[in-house]
Amino acid sequence: MKSVIYITRKIPDALLRPYQDSFTFRMWDKENVPVPRDVLLREVAAADGVLCLITESIDREFLAAAQHLKIVANMAVGYDNIDVDAAREHGVVVTNTPDVLTETTADLTFALMMATARRIVEAADYIREGKWDYWAPYLLAGSDIHDKTIGIVGMGRIGEAVARRAKGFGMSILYHNRSRKNHAEQELGAFYSDFPELLQEADFVVSLVPLTEQTSEIFNQDAFKQMKSSAVFVNVSRGGTVDEQALYEALTSREIRAAGLDVFTNEPISPEHPLLGLDNVVCLPHIGSASAATRTSMIELCFDNLQAVMNGERVITPVN
Ligand code: NAP
Repeated sequence: MKSVIYITRKIPDALLRPYQDSFTFRMWDKENVPVPRDVLLREVAAADGVLCLITESIDREFLAAAQHLKIVANMAVGYDNIDVDAAREHGVVVTNTPDVLTETTADLTFALMMATARRIVEAADYIREGKWDYWAPYLLAGSDIHDKTIGIVGMGRIGEAVARRAKGFGMSILYHNRSRKNHAEQELGAFYSDFPELLQEADFVVSLVPLTEQTSEIFNQDAFKQMKSSAVFVNVSRGGTVDEQALYEALTSREIRAAGLDVFTNEPISPEHPLLGLDNVVCLPHIGSASAATRTSMIELCFDNLQAVMNGERVITPVN
């Protein structure tokens, strides 16, 4: 009998085809709307495997509803939406999608740094709103990226890929992790900093750290106070690493110069979100890994993990 795989969002049929001999697919039929919780709990009861997104909370209630679930394949590298300990207790393998999204997310991180520092969105709106009358010496003048100091909090796969890009821009590279990375120091000339030192020295503070109990709201009032008044803060990790009220206050009181944000505490944010009202903030709708090719690779990696578990083989990218 074929294994039943529930997919929590509509994905292209072409991606299902190679696996149709092995799996019976059931799938939520909307691309831009998450599966309702009651539907998810009903579907998981019959599933051997689930391909889910970060919009699904994989918690004890979900696991209790499962009858013979073997694997949850999360279509993301971050897995703060999953209670990994509870999954282990239920004997459910959890997988994620590292590596395949690293370069794409690093591209976006750098794009966000540049857009924020050089006021790209503000400048594009300026023309569209009919405000461009004359060239002027300091019209929409931003800050440079080249030769500045980047401070990367979370120097993992994506952090290193950002550091490689920073090196090409002649930036000095500081990083903060719980452990030192000798190869990043040797190959990229990166310097290890403790957290306060990084905050004080960096012109660009970039968060690429996973959201955990330890990293929850590490970018708080105290952290923003330590940053330079010219600093640009960029968050491509998870919104929960930031105290958004403290960030808003730091931006409005000019304790820091600007922020580029791909992620938020509660997503999606509404058009009334206070941070959207600030000129010195560039907000994106969590598109870090959103190139078409990378999203396809992420889905394919999920399927490869699902197939490995169903065949009793070694999973490729387990998190537990
Ligand atoms: P990774 O390779 O696991 O890197 C994470 C780094 O953070 C590690 O080097 C780790 O080093 C460090 N770290 C973990 N806990 C820490 C702590 N308490 N304090 C300081 N450093 C800590 O992960 P990745 O593939 O680079 O992805 C990083 C994160 O980016 C993901 O978890 C996800 O949340 C986010 N992400 C977002 C998007 C998006 O669309 N916006 C896309 C992809 C990923 P130590 O273990 O030595 O501390």
